[in-house]
Amino acid sequence: LLALDGGLGVTIFEEMTSLAARTGAINLGQGFPDEDGPQEILDAARDAIAAGANQYAPGKGTPQLREAVAGHQERFYGLTPDPATEVIITTGATEAIAASLLAFTGPGDEVLTFEPFYDSYGAVIGLSGATHVTAPLLAPDFMPDMAALEAAFSERTRVVLLNNPHNPTGAVFPRDVLQKIVDLARRYGSLIVTDEVYEHLTFGVRHIPAASLPGAAERTLTISSAGKTFSVTGWKIGWLTGPEDLVAAVRTVKQFLTYSSGTPFQPAIAAGLALPDSFYEGVAGTLERKRDILSDGLRAAGFGVYAPQGTYFVNVDTAPLGITDSVDLARRLPELVGVAAIPVPVFCHPEGAERTRSLLRFAFCKKADVLEEAASRLATLS
Ligand code: PMP
Ligand code: GLN
Repeated sequence: LLALDGGLGVTIFEEMTSLAARTGAINLGQGFPDEDGPQEILDAARDAIAAGANQYAPGKGTPQLREAVAGHQERFYGLTPDPATEVIITTGATEAIAASLLAFTGPGDEVLTFEPFYDSYGAVIGLSGATHVTAPLLAPDFMPDMAALEAAFSERTRVVLLNNPHNPTGAVFPRDVLQKIVDLARRYGSLIVTDEVYEHLTFGVRHIPAASLPGAAERTLTISSAGKTFSVTGWKIGWLTGPEDLVAAVRTVKQFLTYSSGTPFQPAIAAGLALPDSFYEGVAGTLERKRDILSDGLRAAGFGVYAPQGTYFVNVDTAPLGITDSVDLARRLPELVGVAAIPVPVFCHPEGAERTRSLLRFAFCKKADVLEEAASRLATLS
């Protein structure tokens, strides 16, 4: 487990955020926006606190928020989970991921993820006692090597833990890739747990929920979160939807992890989920411009830039600058030029770490002038 964070006992996000704070660097490491979300949502949380929504919420979430989650899935994807039995509210997507893996996997099971993979996946698979099997995503577009993906499945594959749009690579998987995964999961009797927290952060492509594909619904748990869509990463409100029996099992585990999730935030996120389509288009459009500002700056600074189709992360290759060890660079970058980033090898097992050795991830969910300043500092590297 400790190998995940370089043996330092804290996550890479903690490490890089405190390094940025210590050195006064611009923090393009940990992904969190530097502007608040919509005023109506902030006001709704404040109003809820003033109105006394300050004690435990129902364990599975308030009826109002569960209905809002179901309504959002119907509006965007035509999916119709029953808010009474097929939706639960969690303490961020992080808890939904942990509760799902703890509910369904244990020693002797395999959990399959892409590689690179979001850091909590490796840690929670470790906690569950299952074995973590990976299939590589390959530069430049970070699509899966389909033969390797197929070979990674086995009779023991209990869960395929998907992440789409994908952190850290920014890949957004097209229908044929998703269908192939669903077909393999059916063939091997695996559940699909799909982390779609960046569902609204896509650029020029539409997000396709895995649960919407033929053959998927009965075996798929879909996870999302308010943090990214509404720029409230600190509120830690997430949700999980899927078939009643699977959701019930996750809920059982959730009861003993946190019991329930932040009461006053639940009406606020319900209000957010009801915002018009124009809000969601605005989120993606604003972020796309930020992606372009940072990508142009990174290119001008001499990095090889991999254009992301989603998330708020852009990956670069440091090799054109003659730098081949991104972990070492990330530890020195704040002192060197006053910018913090996350090295991609920390999202990998050793073989994948070797393959991604010169890759570095930058977050672009920051104000335009901050991104421009970061890019001009990085230009002094070469
Ligand atoms: N999954 C992915 C892929 C993420 O990038 C993150 C963090 N932003 C999370 C889950 C955690 O989401 P939350 O803050 O809602 O727990
Ligand atoms: N998801 C955020 C990222 O990838 C970090 C969240 C965290 O610090 N755990 O940057």
